[in-house]
Amino acid sequence: VTQGSAPSTAIAASAVEVAKEYGAGDTAVHALRGVSIDFPAGEFTAIMGPSGSGKSTLMHCLAGLDTPSAGTVRIGDTDLTGLGDKAMTELRRDRIGFVFQSFNLVPTLTARENITLPCDIAGRDVDQQWMDTVVSRLGLAARLEHRPSELSGGQQQRLCIARAIACNPEVLLMDEPCSALDPIATARIEELIDELRQQYCIVIVTHSMAQAARVSQQTAFFHMGQIVEIGRTDELFTNPKEQRTLDYITGRFG
Ligand code: ADP
Repeated sequence: VTQGSAPSTAIAASAVEVAKEYGAGDTAVHALRGVSIDFPAGEFTAIMGPSGSGKSTLMHCLAGLDTPSAGTVRIGDTDLTGLGDKAMTELRRDRIGFVFQSFNLVPTLTARENITLPCDIAGRDVDQQWMDTVVSRLGLAARLEHRPSELSGGQQQRLCIARAIACNPEVLLMDEPCSALDPIATARIEELIDELRQQYCIVIVTHSMAQAARVSQQTAFFHMGQIVEIGRTDELFTNPKEQRTLDYITGRFG
């Protein structure tokens, strides 16, 4: 690194002018209206904003589960636009971990089998030491032989997190990953994901400003399908530039 130059930050994922419409004509819903955002490697980005502002839609587009109506999504250097089904499936499987609000656990498999399923499908060995670490940090060690129906909501949510990181993804996408968890479990997960941040790029949708402030370096505030404000988390919370951000963080949002 040349002296005086800014450290170069690798961009692990990005959205460029992403728009998403559902439906057409008069009844079309503009879920995203030209959203551009970079997600640096080794950083934690919090996506905040009121219900219906497009947060989940963006996550689905980043995960390749939904196709933007316009614009570009990149994971690393890979442009998702026009990727065939096979390439998209492989990219999702090999490079992205996601934790969504619907758990999508396989009911007939044990917790252990659910965790290793993505690696099994990919034909990759699970790093046993890594798996043990993840499982114990998530408090699941005593539950590995249980089926999802025998687990509490919070345990199922932690299982989803374990499954998402067992395969070592480049980008970890989490839509409200702590919604079913009590404060102690939440604190443990925050601690774990803060450590994971060094290795991954993490994007989290959260309604909790306290959580965003605790764990993220970058925060984007969404409203009506657009980014109202994006910046370093400490800056955005202490010195927001936009009135709508200020209204939201002070609880005056309509
Ligand atoms: P958020 O995650 O911020 O609550 P969403 O991304 O879920 O917002 O939704 C953004 C907008 O898009 C909302 O108006 C929602 O009703 C609409 N929407 C989301 N998914 C669909 C869908 N599959 N079909 C039609 N409209 C949708």
